Amino acid sequence: MEAGMVSVDRWSDGSQVYFLTHLHSDHTKGLSSSWKFAPLYCSRISAKLFPSKFPDFNLSLLRIVEAGVWYSLSLISPTSNSPVTVKVMAIDAQHCPGAFMYLFQGEFGCMLYTGDFRWERTSKKAQIGKTMLLNALRDVKIDNLYLDNTYCNPTFKFPPREVAAQQVVDIIISNPDHDIIIGIDSLGKEELLLHISKVLKIKIWVWPERLQTMHLLGLHDIFTTKTSVTRVRAVPRYSFSIETLEGLNMLRPTIGIMPSGLPWALNWVGGSRGPRLSSSCSVSHRDKIDRSSKIGGYNSIDMSNMDMKSIERYHEFMYAVPYTDHACFAEIKEFIELLQPNTIKGIVSSSPSYVDPHYYFSHLCRGNQPSCKYQKLESHAERKKDEIRTKYNFGSTKFVGAASEHRRFRRSALNSRERWISKLRRVRRGVKILETNCND
Ligand SMILES: [Zn+2]
Repeated sequence: MEAGMVSVDRWSDGSQVYFLTHLHSDHTKGLSSSWKFAPLYCSRISAKLFPSKFPDFNLSLLRIVEAGVWYSLSLISPTSNSPVTVKVMAIDAQHCPGAFMYLFQGEFGCMLYTGDFRWERTSKKAQIGKTMLLNALRDVKIDNLYLDNTYCNPTFKFPPREVAAQQVVDIIISNPDHDIIIGIDSLGKEELLLHISKVLKIKIWVWPERLQTMHLLGLHDIFTTKTSVTRVRAVPRYSFSIETLEGLNMLRPTIGIMPSGLPWALNWVGGSRGPRLSSSCSVSHRDKIDRSSKIGGYNSIDMSNMDMKSIERYHEFMYAVPYTDHACFAEIKEFIELLQPNTIKGIVSSSPSYVDPHYYFSHLCRGNQPSCKYQKLESHAERKKDEIRTKYNFGSTKFVGAASEHRRFRRSALNSRERWISKLRRVRRGVKILETNCND
């Protein structure tokens, strides 16, 4: 596709139409209440949430698209000045409310921009998206795949979100005398909170702006801003820290739960998860399999590929649970196997474990790359692995010993992780769609 026609999650001037995958802030950098360059296509849910995120935005610029429907865009070629038709279909990305991936077709070929996505192998909703995508691709193959490569590294192995949600419930049940705080973003993880509320039959505290978002999403009776009616609070992730938890514990016993994929990198580093603090809520492997098999009809989950070890604490007051809205490595692989694109470009270029997706998946692409390029990539990948090993040197013998040493190290590691998250969140994602984007 020529430059100057379509942008996805990229908001600088110079395109004729713009597409928003979802409203997370790393996908809206450059978008503001005064933005007015051209029509902006997004999901119905994103459009509904738009005024709360951008209060004076000119809503007449929004164009709502429905999943599974082809739309035709009449654009002008910037080079020949002649009319060009671009077809586009949105598909549910199963990432956060309103998140879409976009499939584009035209004279330039076929491109898929996933935005952030998670398609679990066992998810019925993902299966619907998969069927929709394959039907749309019946007669064509994807030339350029723009991929959510957040966890494009074999390090990252996560259970389905339903299983991780039950792990969170287990932690809460196992700490009956504690207040619980859960770190979340301004959008996303609603299914997790709904699961907790449903199983424990409790309301969940959220901050006022988040309550407004919940109401816009049609979730009216589950969330509250009254601290007196519940011991479970979902708090902004930026306010979630060891220091906060230590302060809260001076007032009341409080446990923090961080639902995120990132801490699970530690599974892989050095083959050890490092110092293990005592846990009062360990659930046996067998129990967990029995329990998770009852969740959402997941009887067919292949547990052998998942880390279903007992829940562990990452700090005296903090648990980390591998609940993530991004595809893990196995899901990314399955996705690429399904689509067999010609080329792949990762949309998260500054992930700390970033490796060009071609490094792992070139053999699944139709357009094979020159081998010299992969020698370079290989050394780059090895260097990145070394960097992670250095950063998270969790060799178990080194840190066995004094509790204070554990705490010092744990604090340092978690602070590193916070910086890592901050770095990730500062990254602006998105592209102006043009052919050269996929060839570098
Ligand atoms: Zn996102």
